[in-house]
Amino acid sequence: MTVHVSRLLQTLEPSATLAMAAKAKELKAKGRKIYDLSLGEPDFATPEHICQAAIEAMRAGHTHYTVASGIPELKQAVVDQYKKRYGLTYSPQQVVISNGAKHALHNAFTATLNPGDEVIIPAPYWVSYSELIKLTGAVPVIVKTEESSGFKLNAAQLRQALTPRTRMLLLCTPSNPTGTFYTKSELEGIADVVLDADLTVVADEIYDQLIYTAEPFTSFPTVRPGLQERTILINGVSKTYAMTGWRIGWAIAPTLEVAKAMGDLQSQETSNPCSISQYAALAALTGPQDCVETMRREFERRRDYVAQRIAKLPGVTAAPMQGAFYAFINISQHLGKRYGGTLVENSSEWCLELLAQKGVATVMGSAFGAEGYARLSFATSMETLAAAFDQIEAFLQEAK
Ligand code: PMP
Ligand code: GLU
Repeated sequence: MTVHVSRLLQTLEPSATLAMAAKAKELKAKGRKIYDLSLGEPDFATPEHICQAAIEAMRAGHTHYTVASGIPELKQAVVDQYKKRYGLTYSPQQVVISNGAKHALHNAFTATLNPGDEVIIPAPYWVSYSELIKLTGAVPVIVKTEESSGFKLNAAQLRQALTPRTRMLLLCTPSNPTGTFYTKSELEGIADVVLDADLTVVADEIYDQLIYTAEPFTSFPTVRPGLQERTILINGVSKTYAMTGWRIGWAIAPTLEVAKAMGDLQSQETSNPCSISQYAALAALTGPQDCVETMRREFERRRDYVAQRIAKLPGVTAAPMQGAFYAFINISQHLGKRYGGTLVENSSEWCLELLAQKGVATVMGSAFGAEGYARLSFATSMETLAAAFDQIEAFLQEAK
């Protein structure tokens, strides 16, 4: 008997970010010099006091199953952090700790969406949203946004995309892949439509600590009364504390009912997130925070450098890089040309040729729902960035 892949999974796209990173690693393993700007993952080591906490957790015997939705101390730390940062009050029972924010998103969609529900996703969007939503039978509705407005959805665009089936809005701020973030007044405009249309919002704020502008970041539920009751907040330790491999993220649910549904789902699917990682995340949230600012400052230095280099690339533009660690460059003027004899017609071909010919790994805009663009991660060393931009410059110069 042949074993077939389910119809549902036959339509699932693999993560393009992870696929490009894997391609880069494969070439590196073959001995090629590769400048990897593909993955959004801090290159810093996890701070020492966090690693120590993990060792102590193991020694203290925290090596068993935990409550499925996470240890109470970590839920409390998450709640305390939201109170301190944004003045938002939640109870620890509203928090579900998961195996990374990606898993928290999967829980949130699965716990709240029904087949046929429409979810509005502003494009460019991070690669995993649409696929995770499709797994629930709900329908991603992609709404294109413009580079000239920082790739941000406005109230009119949101209103226009509404149908009787619209159930949810996905907001990612600061944005992966664009690096821009929504101001308070922009969020207010969106909030009014959300309240009017009775929508649920999933607000992915995983980059909230990586901001490079004078204007502070605004957390979505703070902008209007009534939003906290309809927003599922997503965050985690991966980006803020350089802890991608530890796999700890969380959702803060608007109601205990939704939190319980997510916890129950997790109890059947994964039991609980890694016990040791949960204690490490607890140390991250409750320990000294100077490491966060040290890393943020270094990202800002790289952001400044990358902005300078992009400005010198002929015919290439980018939205202002205000947060996260991505540059989303417009390469549309460089498509339809020959690179070393190969005709390059779209962003996917451009990124693959850039990798093949110059060893620079990036991610094609088409994977984020934006043809004509490429995403560069600057969560890598200055040396790598400098060499990568030299190669990109040469690549563009050689195109005919
Ligand atoms: N949301 C966004 C916007 C991201 O860029 C990422 C990157 N991994 C995630 C969620 C998931 O983070 P993790 O699963 O590593 O916590
Ligand atoms: N979020 C990061 C990125 O976009 C890590 C990879 C992933 O989870 O997709 O590169």
